[in-house]
Amino acid sequence: MLRRALRLRLGQCLSGRGLGTYRGGSTLDCDGKVSKIKKKIQSIFPGRAWSPLYDTSHLPPERSDVVIVGGGVLGLSVAYWLKRLEKQQGAIQVLVVERDHTYARASTVLSVGGIRQQFSLPENVQLSLFSAEFLRNINEYLAVVDDPPLDLQFNPSGYLLLASEEGAAIMERNVKIQRQEGAKVCLMSPEQLQKKFPWINTEGVALASYGLENEGWFDPWCLLQGLRRKLQSMGVLFCQGEVTRFISSSSHMETASGEQVTLKRIHEVHVKMDHSQEFQPVECALVVNAAGAWSGQIAELAGIGTGPPGTMQGTKLPVEPRKRYVYLWHCPQGPGLEAPLVADPSGAYFRREGLGNNYLGSCSPTEEEEPDPGNLEVDYDFFQEKVWPRLAQRVPAFETLKVRSAWAGYYDYNTFDQNGVVGPHPLVINMYFATGFSGHGLQQAPAVGRAVAEMMLEGHFQTINLSPFLFGRFYFGEKAQEHCIL
Ligand SMILES: Cc1cc2nc3c(=O)[nH]c(=O)nc-3n(C[C@H](O)[C@H](O)[C@H](O)COP(=O)(O)OP(=O)(O)OC[C@H]3O[C@@H](n4cnc5c(N)ncnc54)[C@H](O)[C@@H]3O)c2cc1C
Repeated sequence: MLRRALRLRLGQCLSGRGLGTYRGGSTLDCDGKVSKIKKKIQSIFPGRAWSPLYDTSHLPPERSDVVIVGGGVLGLSVAYWLKRLEKQQGAIQVLVVERDHTYARASTVLSVGGIRQQFSLPENVQLSLFSAEFLRNINEYLAVVDDPPLDLQFNPSGYLLLASEEGAAIMERNVKIQRQEGAKVCLMSPEQLQKKFPWINTEGVALASYGLENEGWFDPWCLLQGLRRKLQSMGVLFCQGEVTRFISSSSHMETASGEQVTLKRIHEVHVKMDHSQEFQPVECALVVNAAGAWSGQIAELAGIGTGPPGTMQGTKLPVEPRKRYVYLWHCPQGPGLEAPLVADPSGAYFRREGLGNNYLGSCSPTEEEEPDPGNLEVDYDFFQEKVWPRLAQRVPAFETLKVRSAWAGYYDYNTFDQNGVVGPHPLVINMYFATGFSGHGLQQAPAVGRAVAEMMLEGHFQTINLSPFLFGRFYFGEKAQEHCIL
């Protein structure tokens, strides 16, 4: 599929690739000549800092086969798999555009780094199973010659999900699906729970499910940096700038049912450079929308959702930033090192953080309680009023906890069904999605990147069939119903 797109759009671009990597429109050969000319000028004007030739090495290339919008874990994972699955080394040029290389507001680095197998949709279980395998063998996947191995600080620990009487039957069904997919999960009665974790108050708990393998938490920053390092070694280009516009061409066609639709193809991405009012156009064949919490805005830039309501053209990408708090507390009487990540039926969760009786956790607000996503300030009253009472009810030792710090981050929240969106847009035919995973995008990124790259290169999913996560479901009103959303 990529090859077909390339033939359509980038015939000229490919013909010159043998010369070397494009940067700022110049080839490596050309860079050599430029540096010779610079030296000559410096010898004519000794001691002069003035240079008539601007350094363009920070600019994006004039063209790239693939432009990935967003350099968080999902964007980088797609880039990784595109390079890994390319048929011939160097065949595909990939550019990652990220507006903030400090990642100050990116979900990836503000997440709590958890991975679990306990989902109700088989696709979600499969995604997390592959991701667990990827993380376990991280130094095979992301090794870079002469660089030290990565240490993800992986902390193996099961998730302990608690169900009330009302949720017990669903939990049983979920565990059956998880086991069918190959996850190792056990069910526990309140008595078994009390015996294994005596610090838990089992009041109101009818059933618990506990992960026995492939669950725990790790350092998201380390995974992100490991991916970046590997991508650089694979020849992926990075550019700090903001994608502000797409230039597309349109064609009209009639569907089998007689409906008129407009197909769009993006052929240029405008990147506004950091600290500048200028933009750089980048010609491209394919675009990946991996802009996390902001991917709804990127879709809109491409004209998605701007048509009449009730049509495919008028169907928005329903992904928006939703603020989530994480509180860190100390409690000398709290559960010991055997404490798993506990998810209460009330929605509150916690886990250990380090070895010194520190814990982190929170609770997602209800729809009515949703905080203003305009900033990342923390609401400490939310902890006092909503989180602490639930924690202390489940773990009485937490009556004495003391909050030490807190932060907030954005869920890349899919308001339709809180599941990921992958694959191409039906009408903007060369925009692909890897977004909307709400609270589970970090752990699924390794597998999602592979699935999206397969779709881009081969035109279909090859390893995990993620059809339920395609964009079309928003138009058809078919929710990918996941019961285990934290
Ligand atoms: C508090 C919290 C806890 C979480 N806990 C977990 C967990 O335990 N396990 C789990 O699996 N997931 C968890 N998540 C969810 C997970 O972090 C996200 O699903 C995942 O990181 C999304 O990755 P991403 O690459 O799509 O987004 P991001 O990491 O946000 O990356 C998107 C990037 O796009 C860039 N961008 C946006 N617009 C533009 C533009 N116009 N031009 C250029 N760049 C642009 C942004 O700067 C950003 O860096 C948590 C999230 C939060 C907030």
